[in-house]
Amino acid sequence: MTHAIEVRDLHKYFGQNEVLKGIDMTVDTGQVVCVIGPSGSGKSTLLRCVNLLETPTRGKVFVEGVEVTDPDVDIDAVRRRIGMVFQQFNLFPHMTALENVMIAQRRVLKRGRKEAEVIARENLDKVGVGAKCDALPTQLSGGQQQRVAIARALAMSPDLMLFDEPTSALDPELVGDVLTVMRKLAEEGMTMLVVTHEMGFARQVADRVVFMDGGVVVEDGPSSQVIGDPQQERTRTFLHRVL
Ligand code: ADP
Ligand code: MG
Repeated sequence: MTHAIEVRDLHKYFGQNEVLKGIDMTVDTGQVVCVIGPSGSGKSTLLRCVNLLETPTRGKVFVEGVEVTDPDVDIDAVRRRIGMVFQQFNLFPHMTALENVMIAQRRVLKRGRKEAEVIARENLDKVGVGAKCDALPTQLSGGQQQRVAIARALAMSPDLMLFDEPTSALDPELVGDVLTVMRKLAEEGMTMLVVTHEMGFARQVADRVVFMDGGVVVEDGPSSQVIGDPQQERTRTFLHRVL
């Protein structure tokens, strides 16, 4: 069976620093997998290796059966199937919400203006910011900006979504709105790989939780087990600190 994402013996060095030390992990189609772990454990680097924002030093990464670490791969074609949402929303400051959601559709997918606008409005509605189409990012709260960023990713009709701590930059009262959108996406069957510190979300929404520490996967299992009844001492220590 082809996994949506498959990572095999992935190593990543920055200079002499081995940040990923042989990661094996899979995400199946329609699954939500949350990656948890202390700061500096390599979670972002792992996520960024999936769409080659970082070049793996050794090992293989497959996306829907296509080896992205193959030097001959058409990486732009693979990236078009992957939506990514970052901690920092990275919206264009001089463009409205609507324009932010239209631009990549126009430039990358070559959609016409009308079609791109219809799809942008649909997705802004879907994430609950349809009334803010004409607002500039500075006129939006952090939670609204992050939902625009999610709409921008969804408007590209991705097969899977990568989230890197999407709520970590938000004021606490705005976190819930973003998690609600992500929960809805999960219920609709979107394949999602999510780095998060939101243990409640991971426990309730994830099919599996992967605990990373020091560049290795320490524990990988059903969310109820990894968070509710961890098998490894390092996982227990981490959870005691964050829960
Ligand atoms: P996490 O997301 O779990 O906090 P990261 O993947 O961001 O961890 O970082 C893991 C380690 O790799 C850290 O020690 C970090 O300093 C280092 N690192 C990350 N990106 C780079 C980079 N571009 N250049 C050098 N070192 C990096
Ligand atoms: Mg990170």
